[in-house]
Amino acid sequence: MKKYLKYSVVAVAALLATPQLHATQVEAHAQTTHTKHWGYLGDTGPMHWGELNLQYNMCSQGKMQTPINVVPTKDTDLKPLNLAYKTGSKSIINNGHTVQVNIKDGSAMMIDGEAYKLKQFHFHVPSENNIKGDKFPMEAHFVHATDDGKLAVVAVMFKEGKANTVLAKIWKRLPSLKVGEAIKCGLSADEVKALMPKNKDYYKFTGSLTTPPCSENVKWHVLKTPVTVSKEQINTFFNLFGFPNNRPLQHTNNRVIEE
Ligand SMILES: [Zn+2]
Repeated sequence: MKKYLKYSVVAVAALLATPQLHATQVEAHAQTTHTKHWGYLGDTGPMHWGELNLQYNMCSQGKMQTPINVVPTKDTDLKPLNLAYKTGSKSIINNGHTVQVNIKDGSAMMIDGEAYKLKQFHFHVPSENNIKGDKFPMEAHFVHATDDGKLAVVAVMFKEGKANTVLAKIWKRLPSLKVGEAIKCGLSADEVKALMPKNKDYYKFTGSLTTPPCSENVKWHVLKTPVTVSKEQINTFFNLFGFPNNRPLQHTNNRVIEE
């Protein structure tokens, strides 16, 4: 019965969810052409994403996929992250795969003089990327896109510890979230920034979206310093879905990982 209930929740979530394109989905759903929905369990789980739809081909055929076990291969003088976050949240949504906070226009990350606009951030429990073999109980992805569709993600790891006050503000909304329906969230720009550690040293590599269509050439920046989340906050998120929403580790295929 328990198992049945779990699957039925997933099935309902899948039916109701707006198809998620992870980074590119943002709020416009221009590319929602797939027919069979993807998930994290069983026949539609990560091992099968590549078979669900031709457009998900990269999920099985890609050679620069994310997540990975991040082990630096090159000591580079990486420039400090250039984050200009000036806007707060527009809305929060449970899209059936994660909880996502959409950001108002006006925040960006500058890379080589180009503005990658902050679109949304969302969560994975447990973490997707590992750092030198270490897993974390949670990971947040801050998803940025240029106007012509180039993608950059900043990943923040969470370790178990003190309750996270910004998360508390977001988590407060979780009980009232219906799958697929965006509601107001009320985070300020400062609160968005406070979800990241003060020390923003990072690992850099080229990877992919960690959800279908698993598109590549995503610029990944994994922050080295974790922030804290309480065990209770982790459980609250996990219980909302009832399954881990992390894609398994992918091959690095000798990718350069800078630090
Ligand atoms: Zn993600």
